[in-house]
Amino acid sequence: MIGSKETTCLVLYSGGLDSILACKVLQEQGIHVLALRFITPFFGYRLKGKEGVFKRETLVRYGIESELIDISEAYLKMLRGPSYGYGRYMNPCIDCKILMVREALKRLDEFGACFIATGEVLGQRPMSQRRDSLRAIERESGTGGMLLRPLSALCLSPTDVEREGLVDRSRLLALKGRGRRDQIALAARYGIDRYPAPAGGCVLTDPIISQRLRCIFGLWPDLGINDCLLAQLGRHFLLPDRSWLVIGRREAENARLISLMTGGDIQLNMVSSPGPVGLWRKMASDTYAALAAGILCRYSKMRSRPADVELSCPGRKRVVRGLVLSDEDIEGLKIN
Ligand code: SF4
Repeated sequence: MIGSKETTCLVLYSGGLDSILACKVLQEQGIHVLALRFITPFFGYRLKGKEGVFKRETLVRYGIESELIDISEAYLKMLRGPSYGYGRYMNPCIDCKILMVREALKRLDEFGACFIATGEVLGQRPMSQRRDSLRAIERESGTGGMLLRPLSALCLSPTDVEREGLVDRSRLLALKGRGRRDQIALAARYGIDRYPAPAGGCVLTDPIISQRLRCIFGLWPDLGINDCLLAQLGRHFLLPDRSWLVIGRREAENARLISLMTGGDIQLNMVSSPGPVGLWRKMASDTYAALAAGILCRYSKMRSRPADVELSCPGRKRVVRGLVLSDEDIEGLKIN
């Protein structure tokens, strides 16, 4: 029955305009929409622990009910070898969509929903929104005819959801291509005036972070969630024992680095002058402590003089004199 209260749909929700509009188009038909916001270390992770705020804001701002779901572990597994490869950077967009649709599919019963929708627009993105990619996402995710793209539905073959009358196809849209004019007009019609810029928020499309992640995944293929968060901060160095040193670039990064400290990590601080904070991970021994201290000094006011650095971890502190390093020394150790 179209518009029945019993019809609940799970919408893949990135917080971007297209996913908001997909929710609104379905709500307009009387379909109960639950927006699923998946988070991973590469997108949305700042919302972790703030589920209540996120759900309230989504409801108040857009009138959309939502759930926040952390899929980090499954995402990391996929990211190591996506079947459809990477896009221009380290973005595995097709596999990313397949994974998210699968994760939604697993939750249909939990949320009493009978189909899944996305804000995908045919032809908008070069990798994941081509016609063949949309088909692959549907096929590989195992959703069959239960996956609806309300914004482009009229450019695509009818799904089971439309054929069975759960959704009124005549009230779906025929958006396609890269332009945003129609979406902006639609947003205005729904009274939506605040929404994030398109394509923002996924660090896997960032050229610098992608390059670094590739390098770091190559060095330590078993990277965990915390490692992936760390890879997005500061300056990175590979020491000769294949240990990993990260130096904060500004106050906020220093604080963030400290918040990512886990067992086995060592924190580095300048002893007698202000300076950055360092986090040293995966070291096998203290052999390169003076080198790690010297790298920290290089980014402090003591860059060309010997200076003391405190190395600390829970229950242990000691001071090491940092090596004086040249620009060439530093360059040779950088992970870009
Ligand atoms: S840009 Fe990032 S979040 Fe979006 S589909 Fe690609 S990998 Fe997934």
